[in-house]
Amino acid sequence: MLVTNHVGAGAAIGVLLHRRPVLAFAAGVASHLAMDCLPHWGLPRVPESHEPFLQVAKRDGLAGLAAIAVLAGPARGLRSGVLAGIAGATILDVDKPARHFFGRNPVPAAVQEFHERIQREAPHRMRNEVLIAAGLLGLSGLLVARGRRALP
Ligand SMILES: [Zn+2]
Repeated sequence: MLVTNHVGAGAAIGVLLHRRPVLAFAAGVASHLAMDCLPHWGLPRVPESHEPFLQVAKRDGLAGLAAIAVLAGPARGLRSGVLAGIAGATILDVDKPARHFFGRNPVPAAVQEFHERIQREAPHRMRNEVLIAAGLLGLSGLLVARGRRALP
Protein backbone atom coordinates (compact mmCIF):
# COMPACT_ATOMS: atom_id res chain seq x y z
CA MET A 1 0.00 0.00 0.00
CA LEU A 2 1.18 3.54 -0.67
CA VAL A 3 3.14 5.02 2.22
CA THR A 4 0.93 8.14 1.99
CA ASN A 5 -2.01 5.99 3.08
CA HIS A 6 -0.02 4.64 6.00
CA VAL A 7 0.83 8.24 6.98
CA GLY A 8 -2.88 9.14 7.01
CA ALA A 9 -3.80 6.14 9.15
CA GLY A 10 -0.86 6.72 11.51
CA ALA A 11 -1.77 10.38 11.99
CA ALA A 12 -5.39 9.51 12.80
CA ILE A 13 -4.24 6.88 15.31
CA GLY A 14 -1.76 9.35 16.76
CA VAL A 15 -4.46 11.94 17.42
CA LEU A 16 -6.67 9.38 19.13
CA LEU A 17 -3.76 8.09 21.26
CA HIS A 18 -1.84 11.35 21.61
CA ARG A 19 -1.40 10.94 25.37
CA ARG A 20 0.22 7.51 24.86
CA PRO A 21 2.85 7.78 22.08
CA VAL A 22 4.27 4.27 22.64
CA LEU A 23 0.79 2.81 22.20
CA ALA A 24 0.26 5.07 19.16
CA PHE A 25 3.47 3.67 17.64
CA ALA A 26 2.38 0.06 18.27
CA ALA A 27 -1.11 0.73 16.91
CA GLY A 28 0.51 2.35 13.86
CA VAL A 29 2.50 -0.82 13.19
CA ALA A 30 -0.68 -2.89 13.58
CA SER A 31 -2.51 -0.58 11.15
CA HIS A 32 0.27 -1.07 8.59
CA LEU A 33 -0.05 -4.85 8.75
CA ALA A 34 -3.85 -4.72 8.58
CA MET A 35 -3.82 -2.34 5.61
CA ASP A 36 -1.25 -4.42 3.73
CA CYS A 37 -3.55 -7.44 4.08
CA LEU A 38 -6.26 -5.57 2.15
CA PRO A 39 -6.29 -5.61 -1.66
CA HIS A 40 -4.13 -2.70 -2.88
CA TRP A 41 -1.93 -1.46 -5.72
CA GLY A 42 1.35 -3.12 -6.47
CA LEU A 43 3.44 -4.41 -9.34
CA PRO A 44 4.72 -7.95 -9.91
CA ARG A 45 8.10 -8.45 -8.22
CA VAL A 46 10.07 -8.83 -11.45
CA PRO A 47 12.99 -6.75 -12.78
CA GLU A 48 10.74 -5.11 -15.43
CA SER A 49 8.66 -3.53 -12.66
CA HIS A 50 11.59 -1.68 -11.08
CA GLU A 51 11.41 1.56 -13.10
CA PRO A 52 7.59 1.90 -13.08
CA PHE A 53 7.61 1.16 -9.34
CA LEU A 54 10.31 3.77 -8.77
CA GLN A 55 8.24 6.42 -10.57
CA VAL A 56 5.29 5.77 -8.27
CA ALA A 57 7.52 5.48 -5.20
CA LYS A 58 9.08 8.92 -5.83
CA ARG A 59 5.68 10.60 -6.03
CA ASP A 60 4.34 8.60 -3.09
CA GLY A 61 7.37 9.41 -0.95
CA LEU A 62 7.04 13.13 -1.64
CA ALA A 63 3.28 13.02 -1.02
CA GLY A 64 3.90 11.16 2.23
CA LEU A 65 6.47 13.70 3.41
CA ALA A 66 4.10 16.56 2.52
CA ALA A 67 1.30 14.82 4.42
CA ILE A 68 3.53 14.49 7.49
CA ALA A 69 4.31 18.21 7.37
CA VAL A 70 0.67 19.23 6.84
CA LEU A 71 -0.66 16.93 9.57
CA ALA A 72 2.06 17.19 12.22
CA GLY A 73 2.83 20.87 11.69
CA PRO A 74 -0.44 22.22 13.10
CA ALA A 75 -0.83 19.38 15.64
CA ARG A 76 0.40 21.46 18.58
CA GLY A 77 -0.26 19.53 21.78
CA LEU A 78 -0.85 16.34 19.79
CA ARG A 79 2.38 16.24 17.83
CA SER A 80 4.28 13.54 19.74
CA GLY A 81 1.33 11.16 19.40
CA VAL A 82 0.80 12.04 15.75
CA LEU A 83 4.48 11.54 14.90
CA ALA A 84 4.60 8.29 16.91
CA GLY A 85 1.53 6.96 15.08
CA ILE A 86 3.02 7.93 11.71
CA ALA A 87 6.39 6.39 12.62
CA GLY A 88 4.75 3.11 13.61
CA ALA A 89 2.54 3.11 10.52
CA THR A 90 5.44 3.63 8.13
CA ILE A 91 8.45 1.90 9.69
CA LEU A 92 7.86 -1.42 7.92
CA ASP A 93 8.25 0.33 4.56
CA VAL A 94 11.74 1.64 5.40
CA ASP A 95 13.16 -1.21 3.31
CA LYS A 96 12.41 0.52 0.01
CA PRO A 97 14.17 3.89 0.56
CA ALA A 98 16.97 2.17 2.52
CA ARG A 99 17.70 -0.18 -0.39
CA HIS A 100 17.43 2.64 -2.93
CA PHE A 101 19.58 5.23 -1.15
CA PHE A 102 21.95 3.08 0.92
CA GLY A 103 21.89 -0.33 -0.78
CA ARG A 104 20.93 -2.05 2.47
CA ASN A 105 17.74 -3.23 4.14
CA PRO A 106 17.71 -2.71 7.92
CA VAL A 107 14.53 -4.78 8.38
CA PRO A 108 15.26 -8.23 9.87
CA ALA A 109 14.86 -10.99 7.25
CA ALA A 110 12.01 -12.76 9.07
CA VAL A 111 10.04 -9.50 9.40
CA GLN A 112 10.71 -8.64 5.75
CA GLU A 113 9.55 -12.08 4.60
CA PHE A 114 6.35 -11.83 6.66
CA HIS A 115 5.71 -8.29 5.38
CA GLU A 116 6.07 -9.43 1.76
CA ARG A 117 3.96 -12.55 2.28
CA ILE A 118 0.87 -10.66 3.53
CA GLN A 119 0.68 -8.31 0.50
CA ARG A 120 -2.42 -8.50 -1.69
CA GLU A 121 -1.20 -6.42 -4.61
CA ALA A 122 -2.48 -5.93 -8.14
CA PRO A 123 -1.48 -3.29 -10.73
CA HIS A 124 -5.06 -2.19 -11.50
CA ARG A 125 -5.82 -0.83 -8.00
CA MET A 126 -4.15 2.61 -8.11
CA ARG A 127 -7.53 4.39 -8.26
CA ASN A 128 -8.50 2.73 -4.97
CA GLU A 129 -5.22 3.81 -3.40
CA VAL A 130 -5.81 7.44 -4.35
CA LEU A 131 -9.38 7.35 -3.01
CA ILE A 132 -8.20 5.77 0.24
CA ALA A 133 -5.44 8.38 0.54
CA ALA A 134 -7.96 11.20 0.12
CA GLY A 135 -10.23 9.69 2.76
CA LEU A 136 -7.51 8.96 5.29
CA LEU A 137 -5.78 12.32 4.89
CA GLY A 138 -9.12 14.13 5.17
CA LEU A 139 -10.06 12.14 8.26
CA SER A 140 -6.71 12.66 9.94
CA GLY A 141 -6.80 16.39 9.12
CA LEU A 142 -10.23 16.68 10.73
CA LEU A 143 -9.07 14.73 13.77
CA VAL A 144 -6.03 16.99 14.18
CA ALA A 145 -8.24 20.10 13.99
CA ARG A 146 -10.81 18.66 16.41
CA GLY A 147 -8.11 17.34 18.75
CA ARG A 148 -6.46 20.77 18.98
CA ARG A 149 -9.78 22.42 19.86
CA ALA A 150 -10.35 19.87 22.63
CA LEU A 151 -7.02 20.62 24.32
CA PRO A 152 -7.10 22.82 27.43
ZN1 LIG B 1 3.87 -2.47 3.86
